[in-house]
Amino acid sequence: MCSSVDYHQVPIATGRYSGSSITHNNTTTSTIAMTSTSRRTFVIHALTASGALAASSLALSQTAAAPMVKDTDANAVALGYKADGSKTDTKKYPKYAASQNCANCALYQGKATDAAAACPLFAGKQVAAKAWCSAWAKKAA
Ligand code: SF4
Repeated sequence: MCSSVDYHQVPIATGRYSGSSITHNNTTTSTIAMTSTSRRTFVIHALTASGALAASSLALSQTAAAPMVKDTDANAVALGYKADGSKTDTKKYPKYAASQNCANCALYQGKATDAAAACPLFAGKQVAAKAWCSAWAKKAA
């Protein structure tokens, strides 16, 4: 027979406890008497833990690398972007020079030594340091 449940009693599986036990269908469950203070503390700890988890997830997502621009992306095709700048169609883009690449372009958002970085022309993606596109502009020394 089932009796009414006292919601101030929280079943626990392990650990220290003091209090009583509940018998239901011949199964005894140990319980801990939870005062309003310990409930408040539990809620605060739970919220703190979930907040910390959310913050670490956010930090992780911010450090995760953005996808690379592909030569076949629509705006890459429009700008003549090639992940390997040496494969640029020089007939179509005669201003290309072998010395030009994303790493020495004014729009490259990374350090010259970074293998890839953001470019404002390709929002949410990264361009390869050795890539090139027709918007290349010499980075100021
Ligand atoms: S604008 Fe500059 S950094 Fe951006 S893709 Fe073109 S060459 Fe690379």
